[in-house]
Amino acid sequence: MLPILSFVLPVYNERDNVENILREIETFHSEKMADRFDLEVLFVDDGSTDGSVQVIRSLAEKSDHVRAIFFSRNFGHQAAISAGYRYARGAAIVAMDSDMQHPVAIVEEMITRWQEGYDVVYAIRDSSQAGLFKSLCSRAFYRIFNLLSQTDILPGGADFRLVSRKVVNALNELPERCRFIRGLIPWLGFSSTKVTYTLRPRASGEPKYGFFKSLGLGITALTSFSVVPLRASLVLGALFMLVSVAYLAYSTIAWLAGGMLIRGWMSLIALIVLTQGMILIVFAIQAEYLAKIVLETKRRPEFVVSEVIGQAGANTYNSAPGFEIEEIPESRGDIAGSSEGESA
Ligand code: UDP
Ligand code: MG
Repeated sequence: MLPILSFVLPVYNERDNVENILREIETFHSEKMADRFDLEVLFVDDGSTDGSVQVIRSLAEKSDHVRAIFFSRNFGHQAAISAGYRYARGAAIVAMDSDMQHPVAIVEEMITRWQEGYDVVYAIRDSSQAGLFKSLCSRAFYRIFNLLSQTDILPGGADFRLVSRKVVNALNELPERCRFIRGLIPWLGFSSTKVTYTLRPRASGEPKYGFFKSLGLGITALTSFSVVPLRASLVLGALFMLVSVAYLAYSTIAWLAGGMLIRGWMSLIALIVLTQGMILIVFAIQAEYLAKIVLETKRRPEFVVSEVIGQAGANTYNSAPGFEIEEIPESRGDIAGSSEGESA
């Protein structure tokens, strides 16, 4: 009985990619890993509407190492990965995109590193990443994130990584709903290392992370990992008080010296507009945190599952943060392969 190597593949409208990525993984497994690991490929369909569901269904029918989770609607990439981590049974779990951008071949090196004792192996894309604007924004984001939070994320990390069972179990225990997995994994600790790869172009279909979606993820990330922006109001307020005290001193001296005081209408208006703008920005920052509190206190699950294919022995099922419409038997296994031998 070999340990299981799991691949978690979030899918949102990737009809023409799912079969290709599965073939690439299967070839990799049979050529390089078959004597050491059993394979599990776990598709998490995030509410696709382009026929991906049917393709995944037929792939799962044809091979018993393919499993699939179908969400009731689109819940987002992070939710899909969370679900994958929750259902995966492997001793090591590789999460990667299903659009062929992430080369499977690099997983061999990732496994070597894991077997050397690292619990987390990040796959980091080298600087030749396509799209200047996107890579500039992403670099700026990681700068700001690492500056404002105590958790450090490796730039270029995306969601391509191998984690050990230990890490997944710890991640599954975290209670929060708004998840930024890229930050949660370094936050958990554990020993980590990285391997680098060259990002391939998307094989087909549309990229799902436009500017605004990425910005949304960035805001989730910052508000979950840092409260420094909340303190911005203190800094701004103090700064403006200093400026106004200085200006008051200046005008008093000017008045004593017999200067005119009625001038300065333009600067007055400019100052009012500026301070109003700043106050609104500070409100907006606070509102982001307030919104996060609202979202978290509602305690709605991160995703809703409408169907699981090949669910016998689903790994960690508990009520948070996702739930299923159907009941599934509860079965927990610490190291896959040890407690659920018959299901593999
Ligand atoms: N994805 C998802 N749900 C979403 C958006 C994307 O499951 O709401 C999946 C998508 O199918 C892909 C991965 O997440 O496998 C990364 O998305 P994409 O390739 O569009 O992002 P990019 O590589 O452009 O950052
Ligand atoms: Mg992609």
